[in-house]
Amino acid sequence: MTETRDTVILGSGCAGLTAAIYTARAGLNPLVLEGHEPGGQLSITTLVENFPGWPDGIQGPELIDNMKKQAARFGATYQLAHLNAVDVKSHPFRLNTSAGEIHTRTLIVASGASARWLGIPSEQALIGHGVSSCATCDGFFFRGKPIAVVGGGDSAMEEALFLTRFASKVTLLHRREAFRASKIMLERAMAHPNIELRTNTVVDEVLGVEEKSVKGLRLRDVSNGVKSTLEIEGLFLGIGHEPNAKMFSGQLDLDEEGYIKTRNNVFTTHHGIEVPAVYACGDVQDRRYRQAITAAGSGCMAALEVEKYLEEHGR
Ligand code: NAP
Repeated sequence: MTETRDTVILGSGCAGLTAAIYTARAGLNPLVLEGHEPGGQLSITTLVENFPGWPDGIQGPELIDNMKKQAARFGATYQLAHLNAVDVKSHPFRLNTSAGEIHTRTLIVASGASARWLGIPSEQALIGHGVSSCATCDGFFFRGKPIAVVGGGDSAMEEALFLTRFASKVTLLHRREAFRASKIMLERAMAHPNIELRTNTVVDEVLGVEEKSVKGLRLRDVSNGVKSTLEIEGLFLGIGHEPNAKMFSGQLDLDEEGYIKTRNNVFTTHHGIEVPAVYACGDVQDRRYRQAITAAGSGCMAALEVEKYLEEHGR
């Protein structure tokens, strides 16, 4: 007979690993399904300078590795697998995963959100070497350097404005003429002396793959086909994030952009009614803060709710 676990955690980013540390210390032997992007977004960033407790900063992958070891020390185990499907109405839950069926009394959904990328090979090759999707994480490294931001929504405006603190010049590239950003954000960006907005412009190639650092962009004006080169040293993508919650569509309430709706921080609902024993934490339910520390905080909350649920309903 298949063993029924006390808890399974979907995702191995900051939220999932914090939930693993707490549930492991509570003696619940959590199983962490590491997901499509083991380690989450921190594992693709470089120096993290705003995570409390690291006065000199810490490399994102090292921070994640530390959390992983910390949870393992108390009995957490890891499996390179992802969830295909689950019926959250049938308890204990039977998880249909890429590693087979797993049974569990509680479920912590910490599957995160993935930054959208342009998807061109030169961009992918230079992620972490001048290409970034996180201005707050990596902006500091571009002090006095020219950079570009791609996107036409609020995230791109916000990133461009933030990056003016460091960069000598920010060129904002948008693929259309009209912007999706709110009027106020767009006006702020347009009014900034160090931001140049270029519309109808797409990135065909990021230059610098051989040198392993961004040297420039090959651009194309889609209104007339004219090609040009822009010399920059950093490229930031502000083209949105996609929450990894599609497998819960029709099972949990999602907002219009696909994020899991939560009540009292981590409780999930379906048609507005609480779904017992399923908790969501981290970026899969947070479109507002999206920080490592806030993800860790909500991972802790989800773990505490799991403990409480098992105390009340039995293991
Ligand atoms: P968004 O509003 O969906 O905008 C994404 C932008 O990226 C769009 O301009 C889109 O172009 C562009 N884009 C998407 N895929 C692209 C691709 N492959 N190549 C080039 N460009 C691409 O996303 P967001 O800016 O992250 O905002 C998400 C939500 O958060 C919004 O509701 C926003 O208002 C909110 N938000 C608010 C603030 C704030 O108020 N301070 C800050 C950040 C985010 P098209 O326009 O052509 O589709």
